[in-house]
Amino acid sequence: MLCLRCGQCCIHLDIFIVNPSSILADGSINPEDQQAMIFKPAGERCPHLAFKPGGSSPLAVCAIHHLHCYRGTPCEQFEQLGPEDAICVMSRYLRDLDEG
Ligand code: SF4
Ligand code: SF4
Repeated sequence: MLCLRCGQCCIHLDIFIVNPSSILADGSINPEDQQAMIFKPAGERCPHLAFKPGGSSPLAVCAIHHLHCYRGTPCEQFEQLGPEDAICVMSRYLRDLDEG
């Protein structure tokens, strides 16, 4: 899936994310830490989501994308059905939710 970096899924989906307070200095999490993954409910902006200026609209940035703790998370494994090079179909749908 080609991500358009709209950030909509990081706001509008129920998902388990890395607990910001569980991230160690080296970017990993302690495997024994029972609180390392927390539930982020739909409609609540992920605390790791930021935006940076882009062309016509700001680009979503995941602050932990490059860290070891991100590996294997539901976010990393997130995909859609269909060809690998298909544009994300959720982006438009989730934007439309915003606009009601
Ligand atoms: S909704 Fe789709 S395009 Fe937007 S950030 Fe999520 S995966 Fe990327
Ligand atoms: S951890 Fe990153 S990819 Fe996952 S919801 Fe938060 S900002 Fe989005």
